[in-house]
Amino acid sequence: MKQLLLIGAGHAHAQVLKDWITTPVSGCEVTIVSPHAMTPYSGMVPGWLAGTYRFDEMSIDFAALAAAAGATFRVDEMIGLNPKRVRLRGGSTLDYEVLSLNVGSTLTPPLAPPGVRARILSLRPLDKLQRAWDALLTDPRLTSSDEPMVVTAVGGGAAGVEALLATLKRLRRVRPGRPVQGALITSSATLLPGFAPAAVRAAHAALVAADVTVQTARDYKDRVAESSDIVLWATGAEAHPWQSTCGLAVSERGFIRIDERLRSCSNPQVHAVGDCAEWARPLPKAGVFAVRMGPVLSRNLRAALGAGTPVSYAPQRRTLALLSTADGRAIAAWGDWSLEGRWLWRWKDRIDRAFVRRFAIAAPSFTTNHPTPLSGEPE
Ligand SMILES: Cc1cc2nc3c(=O)[nH]c(=O)nc-3n(C[C@H](O)[C@H](O)[C@H](O)COP(=O)(O)OP(=O)(O)OC[C@H]3O[C@@H](n4cnc5c(N)ncnc54)[C@H](O)[C@@H]3O)c2cc1C
Repeated sequence: MKQLLLIGAGHAHAQVLKDWITTPVSGCEVTIVSPHAMTPYSGMVPGWLAGTYRFDEMSIDFAALAAAAGATFRVDEMIGLNPKRVRLRGGSTLDYEVLSLNVGSTLTPPLAPPGVRARILSLRPLDKLQRAWDALLTDPRLTSSDEPMVVTAVGGGAAGVEALLATLKRLRRVRPGRPVQGALITSSATLLPGFAPAAVRAAHAALVAADVTVQTARDYKDRVAESSDIVLWATGAEAHPWQSTCGLAVSERGFIRIDERLRSCSNPQVHAVGDCAEWARPLPKAGVFAVRMGPVLSRNLRAALGAGTPVSYAPQRRTLALLSTADGRAIAAWGDWSLEGRWLWRWKDRIDRAFVRRFAIAAPSFTTNHPTPLSGEPE
């Protein structure tokens, strides 16, 4: 039996498993390794922070998807690679004929300086964010104190803006009457670098309306944590450290270099997609690319296993970004064009829910506890 090994429950691997359900390749076994079965869809993370979605509602159940595809789901984590063997944190190794990496990216937040009360919540990895956010919402000090609270986002990209607005909305709802102020600092010269000026203006206006002070061209220093209760760490995507030592060709920032067929530039039996990979022309680290790579990856993995012919991936030049402002509206940005409105939020909500539904096989294999009640109201 040939072994197809999928590492990471990323967006593209969801497509690979879904295709495998209807058209498996005979003589091949599939194994998928991920630290968690329930993998959140990133586009809905701000809505989950705001309390609009439950964790399970925005997650794809990879254990169920793998079972439906006849694949083996292993709860573990890759930590290294020998030429034909993947090493797992749990101590075992897995051999493969064809390997595919869809492990996303990570962040390295600083430690809070000693004696400082601020909690630093990193937006990646998402499982740690989930634990930290749930712990914060169930902390009795959150509702017992009347002291003004300061939430500072570090990073002025889409994730920082959306996560800050969502967090402020949730905290104000959990503890009505307690003053919650927001701040956003970014080392970039502008908010939302690369976005249309009209989208930047709309995001700025939404932040100001939510009582957020915005400072651009400002680096993070310990005093930011000293003057905050919560720091949301939302700086740019980083490669997992093991990627630089696993023997594959990587970019300066440690992302796996891939060719037009989504194969490692140094080992054609290894494919890599999404945030963990670096295309010849570096692409933004956005879920939309991982999603679009899915069907190409699915076809090329089959080809590598001897079924069918491979195709080339052609990334789109422009992508549509839909940013939730946590006030029932969203901002749409497409190249130089931008719009905002309530209907855009409803549209984003429909698109995101439909994406997760595409991969729903049956009832989730397990659900997460939700310590705080959800409003059940639309955002
Ligand atoms: C708050 C927030 C909001 C965002 N909103 C948007 C948005 O609206 N639109 C958009 O396009 N992008 C958005 N992004 C960016 C988006 O999250 C990423 O670009 C996208 O998730 C990358 O997808 P992926 O498939 O590469 O990896 P991921 O979706 O990150 O999946 C990687 C998976 O691999 C697993 N994994 C990690 N390491 C290992 C390992 N060593 N072994 C095994 N498994 C491993 C992880 O647990 C995870 O399940 C947002 C990001 C954040 C933080």
